[in-house]
Amino acid sequence: MNYIIFDLEATCWEQRVPGSRNEIIEIGAVKIDAAGHKMGEFCKFVRPKLDPILSPFCISLTHISQEDIDSADPFPSVVQAFRDWIGEAYLLCSWGLYDKNQFNHDCKLHGLSSDWVKQHISLKHQYPDIRGEGNKMGMKRALEIEGFSLDGTHHRGIDDARNISKIFLKYLGQWQLPI
Ligand code: AMP
Ligand code: MG
Repeated sequence: MNYIIFDLEATCWEQRVPGSRNEIIEIGAVKIDAAGHKMGEFCKFVRPKLDPILSPFCISLTHISQEDIDSADPFPSVVQAFRDWIGEAYLLCSWGLYDKNQFNHDCKLHGLSSDWVKQHISLKHQYPDIRGEGNKMGMKRALEIEGFSLDGTHHRGIDDARNISKIFLKYLGQWQLPI
């Protein structure tokens, strides 16, 4: 079984609260085997269906450009490539439930099954228990606590996934797996 440490970026607007219009624009992921070896990475942009023009706010938050999105494939083909890449024996791991919910949302928007998203754990929810103290916190704070640098660009899916992987690997073997 491989661990898929993943992070999604989505369309967003400064004035609009998260809701049904937000769509995935990047899937970033790192594949780690049971022994903690890094097996590969996945990084693809996605061209959104509802709002294919990114807001200036979204571009400045994520550093994803309009050109990145214009040349990307739509969600159904990118998610198929992602599913091919994760394989049959996988556990999706993200920092919080946002990424799981966003996958469910986009699958529904495109009429695709989201059964495959169920094999998931939230590292953010487990992290305080593993450390034996503290409350849920953002990835940035957890990296600070661990003394890990936030490498790359925060709010880029692939860089967030790489940074989350550092925390995942430090506590490899201590994460609670689904039954
Ligand atoms: P993250 O994984 O923290 O980079 O966030 C994932 C997605 O959540 C982003 O691509 C945005 O769609 C949304 N998001 C994150 N932070 C903000 C924010 N401060 N304001 C609005 N949307 C945000
Ligand atoms: Mg992110």
